[in-house]
Amino acid sequence: CGIVGYIGDKNAVPVLMDGLKKLEYRGYDSAGVAVYAEGKVEIRKYKGRLSVLEEHLDKEKLSGNLAIGHTRWATHGEPSDANSHPHTNEKGDIAVVHNGIIENYLKIKDFLISKGYVFKSEVDTEVLAHFIDYYYEGDLAEAVRKVIKKIKGSYAFAVITNREPDKIVCVRKENPLIVGIGEGENYIASDIPAILKHTRKTYLMGENELAVITKCDIRFYSENGEPVKKEVFNVDWDV
Ligand code: GLU
Repeated sequence: CGIVGYIGDKNAVPVLMDGLKKLEYRGYDSAGVAVYAEGKVEIRKYKGRLSVLEEHLDKEKLSGNLAIGHTRWATHGEPSDANSHPHTNEKGDIAVVHNGIIENYLKIKDFLISKGYVFKSEVDTEVLAHFIDYYYEGDLAEAVRKVIKKIKGSYAFAVITNREPDKIVCVRKENPLIVGIGEGENYIASDIPAILKHTRKTYLMGENELAVITKCDIRFYSENGEPVKKEVFNVDWDV
């Protein structure tokens, strides 16, 4: 039930773990990360407390400058390692973390299975990873835009891929998501406390807005792809 993402020059893993801990109050039953490391999207995800994930990450010293993380509150599919987020396409090179519910996921799943896609979990979120793969033609934001035209429900989700390892693409509808503005680095999170340690300058994403976030640039678009201009929201309180 929480999302954190980072792109910049730091090791993203501790940034994510710290942010996810700040979102613990939202409740969760499992946690996971997708880290872009040495040309690949590495997934680590486990049922249980954040400390379970942390122990695994500490042991193998996974590190990368682009990553997304998630704490899950299961709605579709029991809490398990396989059902934890991030979810990926079959090749494992597109990773998605999602809060909310994709209401028409069964219909989309049937469609994707008919196209030869193979699913690994019972979770509604998994359709997002395969559906993005299905629409992908060299532009991640464009593929996400096509997907949000077809899905119904409530969501905040973030995607990374090693095909475009310079960005995070995220979108939100009826679930919170904010962007933290850094210098040569940027953040995303479900809630401000997750990133307050790093920056007080944020953008609050609006309904149905899509963001493309690189190290030095943040762009917002409407669901139809028109650029959206946003005001910086300065956080003047502490946690
Ligand atoms: N519906 C998704 C699941 O069951 C996301 C739940 C959440 O918001 O954490 O995994």
